[in-house]
Amino acid sequence: MPAPSRKQSLLPETISSSPVRRLRVLLPLPLADAYDYRADEDALPPGSFVAVPLGGRQVIGVVWDEAPESQLPDHRLRPIAAVLEAPPMPEKLRRFVDWVAAYTLSPRGAVLRMAMSVPAALEALPHRAGWCRADPLPEAARLTPARQRVLAALPAHEVRAPDDLAREAGVAPAVLRGMADAGLLVPGLLPPLEDFRPPDLARPGPVLDADQAEAASLLRSAVAREAYSTTLLSGVTGSGKTEVYFEAIAAALQAGRQALVLLPEIALSAQWLDRFRARFGTDPALWHSELSPRTRRITWRAVAEGRAPVLVGARSALFLPFPDLGLIVVDEEHETAFKQEDGVIYHARDMAVVRARLSDAACVLVSATPSLETLTNARAGRYGECHLAARHGGAVMPEIGLIDLRRETPPRGRFLSPALVAAVAETLKRGEQAMLFLNRRGYAPLTLCRACGHRLRCPNCTAWLVEHRAARRLQCHHCGHVEAPPSHCPSCAAPHSTVPIGPGVERVLEEAATLFPEARRLVMASDTLPGPAAAAAAAEAIEKREVDLIIGTQIVAKGWHFPYLTLVGVVDADLGLAGGDLRAAERTVQLLHQVAGRAGRAEHPGRVLLQSFSPDHPVMQALVSGEYEAFMAAEAEARRPGSWPPFGRLAALIVSSPDEKAADRVARDLGRAAPAGQGVEVLGPAPAPLALLRGRHRRRLLLKARRDIGVQRLLGEWLAKVDVPGNVRVQVDVDPVGFL
Ligand code: ADP
Ligand code: ZN
Repeated sequence: MPAPSRKQSLLPETISSSPVRRLRVLLPLPLADAYDYRADEDALPPGSFVAVPLGGRQVIGVVWDEAPESQLPDHRLRPIAAVLEAPPMPEKLRRFVDWVAAYTLSPRGAVLRMAMSVPAALEALPHRAGWCRADPLPEAARLTPARQRVLAALPAHEVRAPDDLAREAGVAPAVLRGMADAGLLVPGLLPPLEDFRPPDLARPGPVLDADQAEAASLLRSAVAREAYSTTLLSGVTGSGKTEVYFEAIAAALQAGRQALVLLPEIALSAQWLDRFRARFGTDPALWHSELSPRTRRITWRAVAEGRAPVLVGARSALFLPFPDLGLIVVDEEHETAFKQEDGVIYHARDMAVVRARLSDAACVLVSATPSLETLTNARAGRYGECHLAARHGGAVMPEIGLIDLRRETPPRGRFLSPALVAAVAETLKRGEQAMLFLNRRGYAPLTLCRACGHRLRCPNCTAWLVEHRAARRLQCHHCGHVEAPPSHCPSCAAPHSTVPIGPGVERVLEEAATLFPEARRLVMASDTLPGPAAAAAAAEAIEKREVDLIIGTQIVAKGWHFPYLTLVGVVDADLGLAGGDLRAAERTVQLLHQVAGRAGRAEHPGRVLLQSFSPDHPVMQALVSGEYEAFMAAEAEARRPGSWPPFGRLAALIVSSPDEKAADRVARDLGRAAPAGQGVEVLGPAPAPLALLRGRHRRRLLLKARRDIGVQRLLGEWLAKVDVPGNVRVQVDVDPVGFL
């Protein structure tokens, strides 16, 4: 928290004789309740950011508009210390904070913290220094051509930032300093922030085809109503969904409201930004974890002041203080990346719908493979729906084929079947690009000792260590534990006895290097492409055909558009089906469909080959036939009888502690106190699949309830019955997506 600056109104500590004004102030700390403070200032509207004393320190909180508590006597109240110079938090955001806290059973203060993620932005930003033309200009000063260019670029009475001025005039910064010394330039002050340039709405978008135009007009009118609605925009990859929702953005801006676009992997969206620029002639504001503190501060402040008309961001952008949000787009709405799994556990897609409702805004959920939740809501009429049936411009969907690994067996120690190798070779020979997809980082997911069978595992987690051969280390993908590959087996001490089992992308790369030594290869994985710049550079290299063969994990699936990529080989199509949680089949179809969508666009038809040991599996059949809707209908029928989501509700309790006995005790107590009754069922306690994670022992319980039963009340009563000692944590995950 920043200390309140001098400019803030410091209120006297003395108690005045007039009746005391009480205010509720919610603090961004893991507290459920707001506290009462004394306000000596008259006009302090709800939402005001204030500094208040708490214990021995000062904390910045928000004036909450709820009735003060009457029990606390006046003389016990402590005064509000300062009011910050920031626009008050909009009411719609305060209601959203309340709502998310109640739904996720999180302390309200913990949710507020997400809405106050940039404390520095609550202080007014300092003005920036710039240069101004001296008036009159000193006659004696020498006017070189460089100096003349500077003066030409600087109209009278205007202030310019030094960098901008130097760039515009095409001079070195030293020229400006020289001009100041000569009295030609005088210092001036610039406003603290530059505005985000508003999108150019007059710019013509692409000419939409009939389907697209119909969808766009539906979305435009949903936005124009300035009332809550949610609409599913579905359609195969390449059908123009992005172009269509750009029209909805334009409609929100025309109405003078703001638009928010959530992307699952914002750091990987260089191509999306190019598209936006092409459509609107400017950049949107960005919001993700890799922004510099300064950019975060500027962006937060710009949003709060209504100066960021369009923002594209990760899930946390939902908690930004938009004064008048008119549209929220959730692109790739089926993505599990929208689920936040730690701290306040929430699903950004679901919360986007809530935020839209509380903001009288339109929400648009976009996907080629919508989640069963969203499809069910659309079929039930709770969401509107529009669909784009075909790829734009006559491009055809790739042809998807299966390779039965039981018959087409790769040679020993290899992972690419002869059929896939032949297809890659043909593609490369034609001068086109091929991609091999395997959703596993590193060289091998498991290392074992040939002599005694010992498997190398993480000391902190129930997990095997993954070999990263290029980096010469073994790594746990759950906790980040790293160790050097052992020269002797840690169990039987046999020398050089360890062998890698199974493939990761690095191993596929090695195999590809032997098979296609001439091909220019590129690995795309989160550890080989750290950060947005690296991902953008990789995408550019592919677009420019500087790469022939791409080997990647799921980050290659994310919305890229590679015009010369015509073959995608999925090395292990069965991978996501192992473990078999509730959504394993759905997720596998979604991921592989998305990967397949990378192949073949406009000019070149594409082909996808799936290597599988169970080619008859409904997931593989759905991918081959392309009948996603039919597959999802079957999924729905499989979930309906047991009241599994979306036909019933789930909530998980995850008990964890460094002390195994303590975790067990709390889990057992929770099991004994479990709610019962019609339409309510509790499964567990049981050790979590990740029974040990980062050194904490974990147990899980799962509450399943009928759709009409409010699980929050049940959970609240349940948790209140059990004592939880300080070394045990109980996390509540309402609507769990992962089950580890
Ligand atoms: P999706 O979001 O459904 O995958 P996109 O909106 O990314 O589809 O469109 C795929 C490609 O087709 C993009 O390059 C896009 O610019 C182009 N495109 C889509 N619709 C049109 C259109 N009406 N006119 C011109 N190009 C279009
Ligand atoms: Zn670990």
